[in-house]
Amino acid sequence: MALQSPEAPLRKLMGPGPLDIHPRVYQALTSPVIGHMDPAYFKTLDRVAEGLRQVFQTQNKVTHATPGTGTSGMEACVANLMEPADPVLVCVHGYFGDRVRQMAERQEADVTVIEGEWGRPTDPQRVEEALKAKAYKVITVVHAETSTGVLQPMDDIVRLAKENGVMILLDAVTSLGGVELKTDEWGVDAAYSCSQKCIGAPPGLAPVTFSDRAIEAARSRKHPIRSWYLDITLLEKYWGSAPRAYHHTSSSTLNYAILEALLLIEEEGLQNRFDRHLKNHRALVAGAEAMGLEMLVKPEHRLPTLNTIRVPEGVDEAGVRGYLLEKLNLEIGAGLGALAGQVWRVGLMGYSSSAENVLFFLSAISRALAVQGCKTDLPAGQDAAMSLLDAD
Ligand code: PLP
Repeated sequence: MALQSPEAPLRKLMGPGPLDIHPRVYQALTSPVIGHMDPAYFKTLDRVAEGLRQVFQTQNKVTHATPGTGTSGMEACVANLMEPADPVLVCVHGYFGDRVRQMAERQEADVTVIEGEWGRPTDPQRVEEALKAKAYKVITVVHAETSTGVLQPMDDIVRLAKENGVMILLDAVTSLGGVELKTDEWGVDAAYSCSQKCIGAPPGLAPVTFSDRAIEAARSRKHPIRSWYLDITLLEKYWGSAPRAYHHTSSSTLNYAILEALLLIEEEGLQNRFDRHLKNHRALVAGAEAMGLEMLVKPEHRLPTLNTIRVPEGVDEAGVRGYLLEKLNLEIGAGLGALAGQVWRVGLMGYSSSAENVLFFLSAISRALAVQGCKTDLPAGQDAAMSLLDAD
């Protein structure tokens, strides 16, 4: 039987993730548990892999849902593609780029960092200069930096990586299933994401995809892959090859859930899904700005799935989040790292990216701010948001 409140309160989740999930995904979570070597379950895994190939827009054979959260996917990509002394170029313009840097250093790779300003994407000119100065094996890029709400433009980086024969390792934790991500067309060699954001499932799985070139690189390493659990050549013996070999006790519960979420994506269509995310994001921004609030990121670099709103002067940032949670059961995210106390992070991802969530958020934050004596123009915000939500 499900936990009863207050142990499991029913919140509206509009932070950086997890987000609310579709009732069909909840239903899938109640499917009977099945053995991880059951032939019927292998069909589920095959279908999960197929669904993930569609959202990653890839033909990569090695594409699956690694156990663990997004960080597990990050570790899988870093540990398989990097070994001691490998020259790697790490682009950091927020909290998660820095996490990649830390992991690369733990692999004892020869790490060069392009440190960018938080709230802006990595400047391709700096990538070009770095690639001219030294030959790199891998460049790491955070596609959607959840700590800042920036979407990294990929065109120049993709072109430069191709020209220089460098492998791209992409963090797609807050982009996969919510914004365009063309793994094959862009020539991305390894990418990872999570189940709990735009995919629309609970946390616990990390979709990953590896190109043939990346798998070849993992197979021809000088040093063994330092992580046994996340060694892609071993994982693949369970996920990909026939006969399948036991590797770990795969969670059927989570894989049934992610499969249902992937089926929902197929039914909606990828382009429709991207359009929905963009429309709701634009409405939320228009509403917030009309109310008198300010976004952190310039319009051209904003991430449609995660909105960073500046905390108005004199407002108690945590007090607002506390009010929303206690009075309205609404979760939004705090600023992370260098932006702690300065912004709120409002997620519109997957099932949570909806017109009603946009409107609910605007009125909820308006009230939370009013309680602190900070007046906003809610009717103007609602009008601005609705004029975009009404449009076809
Ligand atoms: N990378 C990015 C861009 C993220 O936003 C996150 C989490 O929010 C992670 C990596 C780590 O994912 P997780 O918290 O699921 O381990």
